[in-house]
Amino acid sequence: MLSKIAQILKPSPTLALAAKAKELAAQGKDVVSLTVGEPDWPTFKVAANAGIAAIEKGLTKYTAASGIPELKKAVAENTNFLLATNYTAKEVVIGAGAKFLIYAALAMVVDPGDEVLIPSPYWVSYPAMVGLVGATAKIVICSKGENFKLTAPALKASITAKTKMLILCSPSNPTGLVYSKAELHELAQVLLANPQVLILSDDIYCQLIFNGDNVAPHLLQVAPQLKDRLIIINGASKTYSMTGWRLGWALGPEKVMSILGDFISQTTSNASSIAQYAALEALKSGQPELKIALATLTRKMNWCVDQFQSLKLFKVIPPDGAFYLWVDVSGFFGKSIAGTKIQASKDVSQILLDSYFVATVPGVEFGADSYVRLSIAASDSDLQKALLRFKDFENSAI
Ligand code: PMP
Ligand code: GLU
Repeated sequence: MLSKIAQILKPSPTLALAAKAKELAAQGKDVVSLTVGEPDWPTFKVAANAGIAAIEKGLTKYTAASGIPELKKAVAENTNFLLATNYTAKEVVIGAGAKFLIYAALAMVVDPGDEVLIPSPYWVSYPAMVGLVGATAKIVICSKGENFKLTAPALKASITAKTKMLILCSPSNPTGLVYSKAELHELAQVLLANPQVLILSDDIYCQLIFNGDNVAPHLLQVAPQLKDRLIIINGASKTYSMTGWRLGWALGPEKVMSILGDFISQTTSNASSIAQYAALEALKSGQPELKIALATLTRKMNWCVDQFQSLKLFKVIPPDGAFYLWVDVSGFFGKSIAGTKIQASKDVSQILLDSYFVATVPGVEFGADSYVRLSIAASDSDLQKALLRFKDFENSAI
C-alpha cells in the first residue's frame, strides 16, 4: 500500500522523544525533558500582540502563497542588515516553518541520484529530507579534533560529479559550535572552485550566539560571490520563541525563490497569515526582547557548562551558540548502570529516561554515537533537577 519513500520514512527522533517525555509526565512521572530544541520562554510580546491584532483586524484570510510583501521586505532588510547583503523582496519566500522550506528547497533543486553533502554531526532531519526527494545524503564525518566542523580538505575530498548541494548549519544543531570567518573562507575557496555545488545555509540559530556579536559569521560575508548559488533558510521559531507559529523564510536566487513560491502554492498555500503579521513585528521591533532572551540563554548555558565540568564521565564541549549541549558520554561505555551495560548513546539516553526521568536525544540520531544532546532552553528548576540526576547517574556507574 505504501510508496517506496514512505517505507523508509522514520519520524523525527527529537519530536518523538519530546512526545515520549510528555506522555510520561502525563502519567504523573517527574520527567525533565531536555529533548526538543525550543525556548521555554514565551513568544516575544511584540509578536504575540501583533498576532492578536491581526486576528482582531480580520487578517485571517489567504495571503499571497509565498507571503505578504511587507514581511518579505522586512526579511530582506533584516538579512541585509545582519550580513551586509543586498537581497530584495523578490529573493524572499515565506513558508510554514524553516523545516518545510528546507524540504521544499531540496525538492526544487535536487534530483533523484544527486548527492547532498551533510557534515556530521547533523540535524536529524537533513538526511531524512534528502531521502524524501530521492537523492543521496552523503555524510561527511567531522571529528572532535576538528570541533565537529567541515574542513576545506574534507569538503574537497567529498565532492564528486554527482554533488548537487552542501548543507551548512552554524551555529550547529547539535553541537552549538560556530564556524569562524577564517574557516568559512577556506570552505568558500573549495566551493568557488566547484561551481556546480549549491549551498543551503541553515541560519536558524544565527542570532543566538554568546560572544556579543549580533550574528554568526556567514559564508556570504567572506564570499559574497556565492550569493547566486546559495539558499538561506531562517525563521521566527528560535529567535523570537515562535516554534508553534510555524513561520520560516528562504532567501536565494530569484529563479529558485519563484519556483519555491509555486511549490508552496501547490502544497501548503501561504504560511499562517496571523503568524506572518506576528513575525513582521518581531523582525521590526523584537530586538530588545532578543537581548533579554540571549542574556537568559547565556546564563543558563554558562551554568550548565560549569556544572558539567565538575563531573568526570560526562564531558561537555562548550558551545558558541544555539541552545544545545553536546555531551561526550563515551566514558560510560563498558560500564553498567541499573543492571544495564552501556555500549552506545541510546543506552545512556534510555537509562537516563527510565531510571532518572531525564529525557535526552542520543547522539546516534545526529550521526555520532559517543554523545547525547541536551536542549538547555529549559526552566532553571528543570536544569537544576537534571544536573542532580546526571550526578546520581554518574555515581551509580560501575
Ligand atoms: N534547522 C535546524 C538546524 C533546526 O534545529 C530546526 C528546528 N526545528 C529547524 C531548521 C526548523 O525550524 P522551524 O521549522 O521550527 O522553523
Ligand atoms: N530543531 C529542533 C530540535 O532539533 C526541534 C525539533 C525538530 O524540528 O526536529 O530539537
